[in-house]
Amino acid sequence: MDRTPVDAPPTSPPLLTVRNLHKNFGQLEVLKGISLDVRDGEVISIIGASGSGKSTFLRCLNLMEMPGSGEMTFEKFSLNFGANARLHPTPRQLCELRTRIGMVFQSYNLWPHKTVLENVIEAPIQVRKMGRREAVEQAEALLERIGLYDKRMSYPSKLSGGQQQRVAIVRALAMAPKVMLFDEVTSALDPELVGEVLSLMSSLVAEGMTMLIVTHEMAFAREVGTRTLFFDKGVIAEDGSPSEIIGAPRSDRLKQFLRRILHEPSRLG
Ligand code: ADP
Ligand code: MG
Repeated sequence: MDRTPVDAPPTSPPLLTVRNLHKNFGQLEVLKGISLDVRDGEVISIIGASGSGKSTFLRCLNLMEMPGSGEMTFEKFSLNFGANARLHPTPRQLCELRTRIGMVFQSYNLWPHKTVLENVIEAPIQVRKMGRREAVEQAEALLERIGLYDKRMSYPSKLSGGQQQRVAIVRALAMAPKVMLFDEVTSALDPELVGEVLSLMSSLVAEGMTMLIVTHEMAFAREVGTRTLFFDKGVIAEDGSPSEIIGAPRSDRLKQFLRRILHEPSRLG
């Protein structure tokens, strides 16, 4: 059965709205007008073939990539993009927005020359201006929670891929984000390490975190997700509950995609 977000009656205003978002790389139109409302507590899985614009969309949401045009509202931010934008985000707004919308990638991107603990305290100290002692206490509590307290003085290279990815998730959580974006965070892991990362993500779902998750883990998407989007060539081609989208796909494109994912999951991106 599909989960429904707690504390989010359908009448509450969306937490995040995106309107008509476009993004080009040179001549290549990658996002062709994405509109989406995300409500507090929603857990949205995003599926779609390689090159359909999933990663670009997530990167636009936390403004690692600047959209070419369109609008976005989130908390106190009301942003519009492009040459005719009424107001461009200031560097300070960008920085602040990125603390509220955390992102984790396929490649863990931990700093190799810093210990696990230093990786986790860096941004809270530098960006949130947290005192070192408080940052260390918070980081230790987070590491304790994921069973990696004993690894706090280790360097990332001494950890397994699954451990590194869990540290990367905790590092994002240390910024106290309101929304978490996950871009294929288990795709680079050996199969036996996938479970520990998904179970950490499930625990965030249980806490009510709002999440957008690009994934090929269909069972996970159905189990924890409240909603699934199928991206196709830069548009949201289907949007519905996981059981509708994954269990009873309507379009031929989606049917084809799901068939391929079952037969050659390793070739998708
Ligand atoms: P997905 O995550 O669905 O596989 P992406 O968002 O990564 O898709 O990519 C969509 C398209 O945009 C692809 O054709 C990709 O090659 C292109 N693309 C992504 N990032 C860049 C970039 N920084 N510069 C040029 N092209 C890019
Ligand atoms: Mg991608």
